[in-house]
Amino acid sequence: MADVMRYDDNCLFCKIMRGEVPSDRVYEDSFCYAFRDIHPQAPTHILVVPRAHLVNVTEINRENGDLIGHVFSAISKIAYREGIAEEGFRVIANSGPHAGQTVPHLHFHVLAGTQLGEKMV
Ligand code: 5GP
Ligand code: ZN
Repeated sequence: MADVMRYDDNCLFCKIMRGEVPSDRVYEDSFCYAFRDIHPQAPTHILVVPRAHLVNVTEINRENGDLIGHVFSAISKIAYREGIAEEGFRVIANSGPHAGQTVPHLHFHVLAGTQLGEKMV
């Protein structure tokens, strides 16, 4: 697993996970943390974040692949708990400027609860 102790003092999501900034927590375990987005883009909009401070998808590799697998199994668990597994949801990871990433700590948006907008792909 990636080093869960890796954090950045100036990172908003690291601060949220350490309880220094409040959040509406949905799920947590030793390796990841999930909370409701402050500006929801759908009736259900959850951010699922690995505890390790990875900047975005560019930092995923064979060494931390177990952690990413763990995060996705947490997403599945959250989907069932939130009652969105059946009707469906979308998972998005914005990575870098062209994708409009605003918080440089790897996170997965989970969007659900309505018919989602036009698909890009
Ligand atoms: P990105 O644009 O990097 O893909 O996603 C960052 C997300 O974090 C945005 O959807 C934004 O609304 C959310 N966000 C930014 N600041 C906060 C905050 O302080 N609390 C919560 N819960 N969400 C935040
Ligand atoms: Zn961070």
